[in-house]
Amino acid sequence: MTRAAAGVPRCAPRGKRGAVATSGFAYHRPTTLREAWRLLAEHPGAALLAGGTDLLVRIRARELQPSAVVSLRSIPELAGAAAERGGGLRLGAATPVADLLRRATVVRRYPLLAQALRVMASPQIRNVATLGGNLCNASPCADTAPPLLAYEARVELRSARGRRELPLEEFFRGPGTTARRASEILTAVRLPAPPPGARVLFHKQRRVHLDLALASVAVLLRLQGTTCRRARLAAGSVGPTPLRLRAVERFLEGRILTEEVAVEAGRLAATAVSPITDLRSTADWRRRIVEVRVRRALVELAGLERAGGAP
Ligand SMILES: Cc1cc2nc3c(=O)[nH]c(=O)nc-3n(C[C@H](O)[C@H](O)[C@H](O)COP(=O)(O)OP(=O)(O)OC[C@H]3O[C@@H](n4cnc5c(N)ncnc54)[C@H](O)[C@@H]3O)c2cc1C
Repeated sequence: MTRAAAGVPRCAPRGKRGAVATSGFAYHRPTTLREAWRLLAEHPGAALLAGGTDLLVRIRARELQPSAVVSLRSIPELAGAAAERGGGLRLGAATPVADLLRRATVVRRYPLLAQALRVMASPQIRNVATLGGNLCNASPCADTAPPLLAYEARVELRSARGRRELPLEEFFRGPGTTARRASEILTAVRLPAPPPGARVLFHKQRRVHLDLALASVAVLLRLQGTTCRRARLAAGSVGPTPLRLRAVERFLEGRILTEEVAVEAGRLAATAVSPITDLRSTADWRRRIVEVRVRRALVELAGLERAGGAP
């Protein structure tokens, strides 16, 4: 059933099927995916709303003027986390960030994601902002994207016609653009089992507390002695989409990690990104952050400081 919006003025005129007409758009709050898909089909200009922390800002700024808003907040299938066969985890797309941080299975098994969630926005925003909203908003600086890329997450998209799954890397198409079709809802993010013994580090560079990232770096390493057996690296705010740093991964895997290797990996990372200059930072500074933070993360995760002093 479509329900009226909580918090919408009582005098707001009621549209058909209990929807509330606000200034310019009708608000719908379906309780099933089927109902949400029907509303999307009925209102071709509709926008999906999860936590609203990106969407409502854009509507208020008149960057977006949807004909209808379809809330995903009351659809149980979109919430929560469930263990999957093979040791992975399925995260409902409309699960708020704060909720994810309360789950031991997220915090203990996917610490790289937890590190990013902890530095995302403010506690108030984290209470409502969702994982799916962060990804569908497709900002290059989305905090959850680099760790999810490093874990090789997949996204699950469903419409009335069926379901498909994509690697997260293929989901991002450009700033504000994803591979999601208008009829689809991002229903879940699927994480494979984390590599045993992985060491991880997320770094978010910002100008001030609570700021968006100027640049961010997520590093996941599995070492055997001092040899790197697996490396997964990703960066945010340094290209049109969050990026997986594959050239750095190839360079590291199979190598003995030394300070020189860490320095070279940092250099490679800096050449693999394509940042822009904007109000938060210059392109050069962003590139430099990536270089230094990749190098430092490798030094820290491989324990090279203890061996011979940090570069
Ligand atoms: C003060 C403030 C600080 C912020 N700080 C940060 C920060 O530090 N780091 C950061 O990464 N972000 C930050 N943000 C941005 C925002 O909070 C996040 O991107 C958040 O995760 C968006 O989630 P949401 O649920 O609020 O999305 P919404 O605003 O509800 O939706 C965002 C977009 O995704 C679409 N969408 C949402 N869910 C789905 C779905 N399941 N399927 C299909 N489409 C969907 C919506 O239609 C909309 O286009 C900040 C925002 C504010 C206002």
